[in-house]
This record gives sequence, structure tokens and C-alpha cells, in this order.
Amino acid sequence: MKPTRLILCTLSLAAVACSDAPPPSADADAVSADPPLYETTRIADGVFQFRYQGHNAMFVVTDDGVVAFDPISMDAAAAYAGEIQTHAPGAELIAIVYSHRDADHATGAPVLREALGSNAPIYAHDNALAPLSAAADPNLPAPDSTFSDRALLAGGAIQLHYLGRSHSDDMAVAFLPESRVAFAVDFVSADRFGYQDLSSFYFPDMHDAIAGLLEIPFDRILFGHGPGGDRATIERQQQYYRDLAAAVRAATAQGLSEDETAAQVLLEDYRAWDRYDDWRELNVRGMYRKISTSG
Ligand SMILES: [Zn+2]
Repeated sequence: MKPTRLILCTLSLAAVACSDAPPPSADADAVSADPPLYETTRIADGVFQFRYQGHNAMFVVTDDGVVAFDPISMDAAAAYAGEIQTHAPGAELIAIVYSHRDADHATGAPVLREALGSNAPIYAHDNALAPLSAAADPNLPAPDSTFSDRALLAGGAIQLHYLGRSHSDDMAVAFLPESRVAFAVDFVSADRFGYQDLSSFYFPDMHDAIAGLLEIPFDRILFGHGPGGDRATIERQQQYYRDLAAAVRAATAQGLSEDETAAQVLLEDYRAWDRYDDWRELNVRGMYRKISTSG
């Protein structure tokens, strides 16, 4: 199937009307000692986070129908479909959106379609199309429609933004102008180190993508993993990668080896962050390799 292209829009983000949405609440992100396999949390009117094990997705109930992001997996999608039916009874599934093409977020669209009796089109960024078409995985079908820069879904209730390369080269960030909620996967998270040695991350593009995210007027943001956050969460994430890059650059300027840099760059300001013990050193090593190879 030849994908059709979404309407491209140059959005004036500053012109988006303000809403009186409540400030982010910690309650929705509370972690119990024994969390259920999956759960759905209402984030705002018509906006829900679906969590399955350690992965989060978002679905939005619009006037036109339901838009579901990231089916996660075949098993997750079966639970996801049930949660959509519970929270939006009778609503039609009108679109599935891949935040990006990684299998641990994008697998399972056929299950959503089958369970919800819909042949909803799949949307993704342009750069997801060729690799997914080549892979021809029936559980992770290629998108039916792609976009390059900006796109609108459900009459503008949902904006998709491409902020350049970050964790991948096909990351679609969602923004809901009415509730001022954003959904961003894998390149940002709440007070948590980057994934392992950052080998999948593009630097220095990451800095630009995070800056671009902050130009979107969200108040609350959901992530592909872990609790959500707010604008300050993203400012801390931005500062972290700046601090990491600066510390590693200073070490390389002194002629330190990768091992010496990993031993000395302790990032003490981030000791309370999630994964400090297992990903701090890997983040330093990954940044060292990126700076050594690309400068
Ligand atoms: Zn990913």
C-alpha cells in the first residue's frame, strides 16, 4: 500500500489557547509495592495513560473517535483494547500512532484493530516507513500514513511533532492543545538516566530535540517509561545531558581514557536519579565514545 501523506502544518504554538487544566498531580504516578500487570490512568478529560509492565502508552478520546499510541506488544495490545473499551465504550478506533518504530513500543497494532473491530490507519514519522516495510513483520506493520515535520489528527485535537533525531530518527512527539498534555518516548523521562550506554541516541541532535520539546506549550508530559512530569522535568533532563557532555568533554580535554573518565565523572548532582547505580557509568562511557568519534 502506498502511504498517503498527512497534511503538513506550520503550527503557531504560541497561539494555542490556554486551558485551566489542573497542575500535574503526583497521585496518578504513585507506584504501589506490587503494581498490577497493567493499568489505565486518566490524565485529563479524554486523555488516558495505559501502562503495561514497564511501558506506557497514551490513548485519546476525541470527538472523531479514539486515537491509540504505541500498542507495545501483542499481549499488551489485547489488554490495551479492553481498557479502551472500558474507558471509551462504543467509540471507534480511528488511528494508531507509533511514537517510533522500536518493537518494544510499536508491536501489536493488528491486535488493537482486531479487538476493536476497526481497520484504523497507522501513522508514524516518514523515517519509520522504509525499515518497517523491509522488515515485513505482521505483528508490527508499516505505517499507512507518514509525516515529516508536523501533522494534525482528529481535527487538530492531536498534534504530531518531529523534533529531529533523538533516541531514534523517527520520533513523533504528541501534543494535545486542549489539555496541554504531551507524550514523548525514550529520549526523555522523569529524573532517570539515559538508556544504558546511549548507543541508540544521536548527539548533539538530542540537545536540539529536547530544546524543541520545550518550545511545545505542554504543562504535563507522559513518557514511554516511568512516571510522567512537567516542564521542569524536561528542563532537568536538558541540564543532565548538558552536564554529562560538559563533564566528559572536560575529561577528554585532560587526556583521560574512557576507563578513567568513567571512574571520575560521578555526576554527583544526579545521585538520586533512577538507575544511577547501573546506568551512570554506561552513560559516561557512551558519551565518551560519541565525543571521541564525533568531537
Ligand atoms: Zn525506543
